[in-house]
Amino acid sequence: MTDQKPEPDGKGFYAGSYGGNDEKIGPKTRLECKICWEIYDPALGDDYWQIPAGTAFFDLPDHWTCPNCDGKKDEFMVVKD
Ligand SMILES: [Zn+2]
Repeated sequence: MTDQKPEPDGKGFYAGSYGGNDEKIGPKTRLECKICWEIYDPALGDDYWQIPAGTAFFDLPDHWTCPNCDGKKDEFMVVKD
């Protein structure tokens, strides 16, 4: 095991923020941009970046950003159904 940082506790991250932690999300988890509220839905993929449907958020390429506002992946928050 590598060093695990303690869970974000609200300092620097919103509660429920993805925060770059892939362990918080599953292959079908939708995430929402906290800047413009754009939602990434793995079931739909992303036409803008030519991401095929079925691609999990954590499988998006590192250069992926919000198609709407250019926010980075760690600006996204987990959407709870
Ligand atoms: Zn955005």
